[in-house]
Amino acid sequence: MKESILHYVWQNKLFTAHNLQTTDGESVEVIDVGKINTDAGPDFFNAKIRIGETIWAGNIEIHPNSSDWNKHNHQSDKAYDNVILHVVHRADAEVYRTDGERLPQLELVFPKQIETNYEQLFSQQKWIPCADKINLVPAIFIQSWKNALLTERLEQKMNAIERLLSETNQHWEEAFYITLARSFGFGTNSQAFESLAKSLPITILGKHKDQLFQLEALLFGQAGLLNPDEQDAYSASLKKEFDFLRAKYELKPIDGAQWKLLRLRPDNFPYVRIAQFAALIHSSSKLFSKITEHPDIEYIKQLFVCEPSTYWNTHYLFATESPLKNKKLGSQSVNGILINTVVPFLFCFASQKNNDELKDKALQILEQIPPERNSIMQNWQNLGIISNSAYDSQAFLQLKKQYCDEKKCLRCRIGHKVLTYNFTNL
Ligand code: SF4
Repeated sequence: MKESILHYVWQNKLFTAHNLQTTDGESVEVIDVGKINTDAGPDFFNAKIRIGETIWAGNIEIHPNSSDWNKHNHQSDKAYDNVILHVVHRADAEVYRTDGERLPQLELVFPKQIETNYEQLFSQQKWIPCADKINLVPAIFIQSWKNALLTERLEQKMNAIERLLSETNQHWEEAFYITLARSFGFGTNSQAFESLAKSLPITILGKHKDQLFQLEALLFGQAGLLNPDEQDAYSASLKKEFDFLRAKYELKPIDGAQWKLLRLRPDNFPYVRIAQFAALIHSSSKLFSKITEHPDIEYIKQLFVCEPSTYWNTHYLFATESPLKNKKLGSQSVNGILINTVVPFLFCFASQKNNDELKDKALQILEQIPPERNSIMQNWQNLGIISNSAYDSQAFLQLKKQYCDEKKCLRCRIGHKVLTYNFTNL
């Protein structure tokens, strides 16, 4: 018997609760199972149990066998002196606290189906363990779980934003600029873009925002991409400009080797993305303030309409001409930026200002963006889990990454339904 199942059964009160008795035959009533402890020490804190006529408040320790208490040396560990009940699957030994006092024990009895469902779930080699059961779970449960998952995902992103705010001395525009740069890396070059933004303060870019050429010189130069081996007249003039600005601001470029082109579509080449980023800075100022003042999706999308300099209409790289194509930021890219940067920042800002209306607006933006299209979303769709907006797809990406991939089915609301299937109403 796995200890994790016993934890799950105890936490969710799935054990047989009538006629509970300690191994000594004293009656037991579980008034409060306590709070699960994920750190060192007893498994549940602050439980409340009646044993015989006495109500006890304290901790609970759970093991498959009583003898595990001694195997883990709890009999000589004072951290376990506040345990009021030892909950086990099989009582095979007496156990004692450090002062030699005997501890009451309870053998946990629960429906066999939970263990059977658990074993079936974890023996699956499917895309996700519950792939052949998820369609049994009513949509209403999935809906409420989806809301919790989305909040959890935004809170994780908020933690990263708060770390950045602390690094930038609570400078919202600077933190937004760094995160925005990161999202221009679209995964493959996100880290390089973040390093670039951190190496080039927004205040310096702000001084040159009216000159797209100078913005390109600063960004390409700092990115380490003005390579003399790939030079044409345009990149040579950018290099000349950058050398001047570099000396003026005492800049130290990042290592150009960080940028990756392998397996990228040309539209995603870092050269194109940097040119677009320069154009965005050129066409906007105080971007984050504008977004907080007008949290409207159409207005925000307009802020991201920007065209790189004409050189990029015929280039994906320096010194290599390509057929004419406008390189303005596409709508899918803008949606990705809204999902990964704009909405988390708005949500974080609204949370810090206790502004529930703004929080709702941030969520409404997600509801107005089409769902992401990738192999994970396709797999969910194959299982009948349909996303109608980015709100849904973000929730299901969170579920896959944080729960299914980690096999945390015991902490998943769908998992709860699947595990208790056959003896509770779904
Ligand atoms: S975590 Fe939840 S959705 Fe994912 S496989 Fe487990 S039970 Fe299914």
